[in-house]
Amino acid sequence: LIGQKAQKEGYKAYAIGGFVRDLLLGVENLDIDIVVEENAISFAEKLVKYIGGNLKTYPNFGTATLTLKDGSKIDFATARMEFYPFPAALPEVEETTIKHDLYRRDFTINTLGFKLNSPVFGDFLDFFNGKKDLEDGIIRVLYNLSFVEDPTRILRAIRFEARYGFKIEEQTLAFMENAINNNMLEEVKVGRMADELKLMLSEKTGLTSFKRAMDLGIIDKIFGEIEDKDRLLKEMETVNNLMEICQVKGISIDEPFLVYLRVILSHCREHIRIKFLKGMNLEKNLYDDLMYFFEEYKGALEKLRNPKFYSPSELVEILGDFSHDSLIPLTAISGSNLVKRRVFLYLEELSKVSIETKGEDLLELGFKPGPIFSEIMENLRKEKLDGNISNKEEEIIWVKS
Ligand code: ATP
Repeated sequence: LIGQKAQKEGYKAYAIGGFVRDLLLGVENLDIDIVVEENAISFAEKLVKYIGGNLKTYPNFGTATLTLKDGSKIDFATARMEFYPFPAALPEVEETTIKHDLYRRDFTINTLGFKLNSPVFGDFLDFFNGKKDLEDGIIRVLYNLSFVEDPTRILRAIRFEARYGFKIEEQTLAFMENAINNNMLEEVKVGRMADELKLMLSEKTGLTSFKRAMDLGIIDKIFGEIEDKDRLLKEMETVNNLMEICQVKGISIDEPFLVYLRVILSHCREHIRIKFLKGMNLEKNLYDDLMYFFEEYKGALEKLRNPKFYSPSELVEILGDFSHDSLIPLTAISGSNLVKRRVFLYLEELSKVSIETKGEDLLELGFKPGPIFSEIMENLRKEKLDGNISNKEEEIIWVKS
């Protein structure tokens, strides 16, 4: 349909990038990327009238996203023809624009495409030997300065390498190491770096990539020299295992990436940690939650590692202000089974204990609204946690006394 419409309206449309790569690999990929000559937005606006769906346009970038009724998404981008050190051979005149567009991409395996226009539908585009690299399992940049021009490609390379079990081609690896050693990663804004790290750690093979990034000195460049790399790796693996346990037990985790990030940042110097957290432009409550973690986790661990007996209410006092997303890294950092048992007792049981008495019950008992309300509620919960009261009747008796 897209090809028919493009043909009718005088545009050239191509399916390109990850969608084509995964199609050839036989891997599911529901994100369809389409490049349009000459104007993706005006084409998408015409198309939406024809096939329906919800269109969002981004005029500053010349892109548009169409969400279809079944929830699937198609991204449209205008073919870009910027100046790059293009190889000497003259491109075929007819396909100059799309060829230039594909030349700007990260790796040869992502430069594959096919034509969508109805008379030539399915004609394969492979200007840079991407199909051969895909068959050989090789990740290769298109030009020497690729990693200098966009250092986030360093993280993309090791992400794809682990995801598909591919190998970074020798020369590409040399360009990459060069960019790393020349401090190119420091040039990237924290927000973009965090986005790429998040993509990396969201993969099933995220920890393999993370270890590779550590071995290549990437993590040191992003977060400052990590002193105990083995310990950091072990803690990351523990976080991964603990999150799997949480999933099985139905314990909710809001943002797995930030769970890993807490562990990584606990190995950093404070000024780097603060710079990274500020640069991420997190929502205030998330930022505060992370800051609370770094201010409090050491003190909490000291108490939790102590083998002395804690009553349930005392455990809640130590752990109650940490979010679930903070308790997982706290457990991983502790490396202690006692801490793990205590945290999971809290997550699975103690955090769910609540009281039945409500504000209106206290009004009925003659209390005047004010700070006393929360004081009573808090103490009631402590009594309930420690097993001294078990139902509403007993709660009311306790309040009266
Ligand atoms: P994924 O399966 O992770 O979504 P993808 O290849 O589809 O992989 P996207 O991030 O959606 O990844 O990017 C779409 C396409 O845009 C890629 O195939 C690649 O050609 C290009 N691209 C993305 N990021 C970059 C980059 N930093 N530099 C150059 N090209 C990029």
